[in-house]
Amino acid sequence: MSDLKSVCVYCGSSPGKRTGYAEMAKKLGQQMAEEGIELVFGGGDVGIMGTVANAVIDHGGRVTGIIPQFLRSVEVPSERIDELIITETMHERKALMYERSDAFVALPGGIGTLEEIVEMISWAQLNQHCKPIVLVNLNDYWKPFTGLLDHVIDEGFARADIRRVWREVDNVQDVLPTIRDWLTEGEKATVPKF
Ligand code: AMP
Repeated sequence: MSDLKSVCVYCGSSPGKRTGYAEMAKKLGQQMAEEGIELVFGGGDVGIMGTVANAVIDHGGRVTGIIPQFLRSVEVPSERIDELIITETMHERKALMYERSDAFVALPGGIGTLEEIVEMISWAQLNQHCKPIVLVNLNDYWKPFTGLLDHVIDEGFARADIRRVWREVDNVQDVLPTIRDWLTEGEKATVPKF
């Protein structure tokens, strides 16, 4: 059995242009709640990040939101969140999101989402963690991003084995099984040490 208690979901503070994004966010939130997995997220009741959180709450799950003080009036948190942590800075927010989570999932999102997921990939590359990272590819959303990573590898600026640091799924229902498989595989899924 894998020891999966909490998952950090990075995703857009916008709704995106297609209805499929919100539906995917709802499905993931529902699955997390049904499997008793806590959601750790950026705290705001906006975009598809708010959709995931509301779906977790609607299905009886637990949600922790982590938001910097200056964003509270922009990405206003819902009062339904179980635990709301207010940080001074974005750096503190991201560090806490990292510490509180057993795995990371990227749904479609914007610059903030990109920054967060790249940071987790970068830290994994540097052996600072071996927590699972899963990109959800609805509408091939992350293909240009993983194409860029391929380019970085092809041009000799990253090792090919960093591809082991993340996994991609096309369907949101595959997210939690993929994380569980990864955690039970243990060392095999980590990047070789320098
Ligand atoms: P976005 O993907 O840009 O819609 O943002 C998604 C979430 O990431 C929001 O909660 C943003 O506040 C957050 N965010 C925005 N910029 C950054 C950043 N540089 N580092 C970490 N999170 C960010």
